[in-house]
Amino acid sequence: MTIHHLYIHVPFCARRCSYCDFSIAIRKTIPVDEFVVAIHAELGQVGPLGSLETVYFGGGTPSLLPPEAIRAVLLDVTHSTTPLDAVEVTLEANPENVTRDSANAWRRAGVNRVSLGGQSFDDRVLKWMHRTHDAAQIGRAVRSLREAGIDNISLDLIFALPESLERDWDRDLDEAIALHPSHLSLYGLTVEPRTPLDRWISRGAVQAPTDDRYADEYLRAHECLAGASYEFYEVSNAARDGRRSRHNSAYWSGRPYAGLGPAAHSFDGRTRRWNSAAWEAYRRAIAAGASPVESREELSDDQRELEHIYLGLRTIEGIALSDLSRPVPHSAALFDSGWLTSDGTRLRCTPSGWLRLDSLVPALTGNLTIS
Ligand code: SF4
Repeated sequence: MTIHHLYIHVPFCARRCSYCDFSIAIRKTIPVDEFVVAIHAELGQVGPLGSLETVYFGGGTPSLLPPEAIRAVLLDVTHSTTPLDAVEVTLEANPENVTRDSANAWRRAGVNRVSLGGQSFDDRVLKWMHRTHDAAQIGRAVRSLREAGIDNISLDLIFALPESLERDWDRDLDEAIALHPSHLSLYGLTVEPRTPLDRWISRGAVQAPTDDRYADEYLRAHECLAGASYEFYEVSNAARDGRRSRHNSAYWSGRPYAGLGPAAHSFDGRTRRWNSAAWEAYRRAIAAGASPVESREELSDDQRELEHIYLGLRTIEGIALSDLSRPVPHSAALFDSGWLTSDGTRLRCTPSGWLRLDSLVPALTGNLTIS
């Protein structure tokens, strides 16, 4: 199977954000050489990839890796043959890691797209989130990236924060739009078990965000971003001037991809496999010459159909009506709900439908009704 899309997971972070339950490795000093050698060894186990169209360094905090390490990994995975400018190379970065020097070095290393974890422009909120940057660093990071020639910039924001924080969502959207990033990713806060946020809520120090707040802020973002010429092309992602994430679009269209590093997933069109999530377990397996794959699952035809519908409905393209192999229960109510639109050949979610995607898909494919 030829693979054109590669994800590389860099698990290291300087500290844990209050809402984060990812399997990360908190390190003051990043084990750079060990990481680069481990990725090289895993690549050897996976075998040759096809000519890559996208490479995505996700994390964790990939911007903690020195640019030389990013360059070494990129040359390794592209076999030094594919010109890097032909590849969408995305680096997730925290604003405090972006300086003129680092941005220039990333550009020279081959990075041409940066996904910046901004989250909010309110210093109080950033502190509450245990973020390692302040609001002013977000704007400075965007300017440094542009000066270095990286203008394909995505900015992450988190919405639906607890009411007691009195976060001004409109103001944050305005500040984000004023920076004119080519792409925005908006994620609603979720309360994950065993996070600091979960503990604060359990002991009554913070109230869990409500569904109403989630819906209001999500729909408000659609309104504001449409007014600023952004297109919501996926449930959580908006782009202007057609600058969609090519890498994530490959996931949503069901194309095969490979993942390297701890917790990385790979998919060949039918089978999904994933690596041990913890850096130490991954590192030990690789050092012993063993596979770091923790488990795999082969999707049945029904699972593949369900996944195709779910992923398709996440996007603005939606799905072909002919993709629904079974009659839709309560179809009239469902199609009159205002959550779905159809031009007779394709079915798409409206923003209100995207808010209910998890219950809409079973309602379209199986036996559940939705509220
Ligand atoms: S920087 Fe990202 S991966 Fe690291 S702790 Fe914060 S949210 Fe989690």
